[in-house]
Amino acid sequence: TRTPLIAGNWKMNLDHLQAVAFVQKLHWTLKEAKHDGGVEVAVFPPFTDLRTVQTLLDADKIEFALGAQDLSAHDSGAYTGEISGQFLAKLDATYVIIGHSERRQFHNETDEVVAAKTQAALRHGLVPVICVGETSEDLEKFGASAVPVGQLEVALEGVAADADIVVAYEPVWAIGSGQAATPDQAQEVCAKLRAVVADKLGADAAARTRVLYGGSVKSGNIAGFMREPDVDGALVGGASLVVDEFAAIIRFQK
Ligand code: 13P
Repeated sequence: TRTPLIAGNWKMNLDHLQAVAFVQKLHWTLKEAKHDGGVEVAVFPPFTDLRTVQTLLDADKIEFALGAQDLSAHDSGAYTGEISGQFLAKLDATYVIIGHSERRQFHNETDEVVAAKTQAALRHGLVPVICVGETSEDLEKFGASAVPVGQLEVALEGVAADADIVVAYEPVWAIGSGQAATPDQAQEVCAKLRAVVADKLGADAAARTRVLYGGSVKSGNIAGFMREPDVDGALVGGASLVVDEFAAIIRFQK
């Protein structure tokens, strides 16, 4: 039994002051709604917010997990502008998103870079949230699963069988488009991604690893995804920035 994970990827939104207001409001909204857990909630703010959000979660005993949106493949040294996994671990970050399609697209991150960053995350005790997904051209040419399956195979090269990882299936055509995949489509690819985890890391890892769906997830469509056996949660962009929407997504069973 895998604990569902609802993760909010803020992307380049909310400065550290806005982050405080947002996290407090989300916390109180869930409390008022008597959100009774059973779901892990994680927020992925920009780097410059992490220290502030860490302090707030700690001081107010708010049980959201903290994650970063990227990290360097290197541990330290002359890499201007880069952020080491060591720094993220010291901020009590649990997760780090790796290979988001916006990194692949705008920062030329290849499958090999994603694999190196996955190794860096694991070296520092962070759980990589490995993002894979096909573009609309990929979908036309190869169908839905070939590209994400290939991306995940490279990312998991050399990963230990007992490693703690999360996989996120984010079809690029569904991100920010309002055009979410159907639950059936998400299930089909998520099942294939779980099979990749089984193939590379073994059956135990496949049974334990959470596979998320991402791409235009909203309060109105989350329940359909969560009913699928191989969808263990969601990586939410736009809707994670609206307190009531994100709270409703977290409370998808209700
Ligand atoms: P949207 O939820 O805005 O479509 O973004 C999804 C995403 O990219 C999360 O990482």
